[in-house]
Amino acid sequence: MKCREVVELMTDYLEGALSAIDRHRFEEHIAGCDGCRAYLEQMRITLSQVHRLADEPIPERVQEQLLEAFRSWKSTGRSTPS
Ligand SMILES: [Zn+2]
Repeated sequence: MKCREVVELMTDYLEGALSAIDRHRFEEHIAGCDGCRAYLEQMRITLSQVHRLADEPIPERVQEQLLEAFRSWKSTGRSTPS
């Protein structure tokens, strides 16, 4: 699984919406990728804030914003996910 796939599955992972296979592949990648692991933690915090505001599924618009945030975060060069 590539970083991009991991990022796209991240909200589903945190929502518990992944299949067992995808979840396993996701966790395997996270275990070996510092960049994605750090981003997952950031995403977890962001999502908990979103859920506190509204107890409903994450709107697609928010997911898109999170992905945008990840892209700019990656381009800062703070880390090099592979
Ligand atoms: Zn990664």
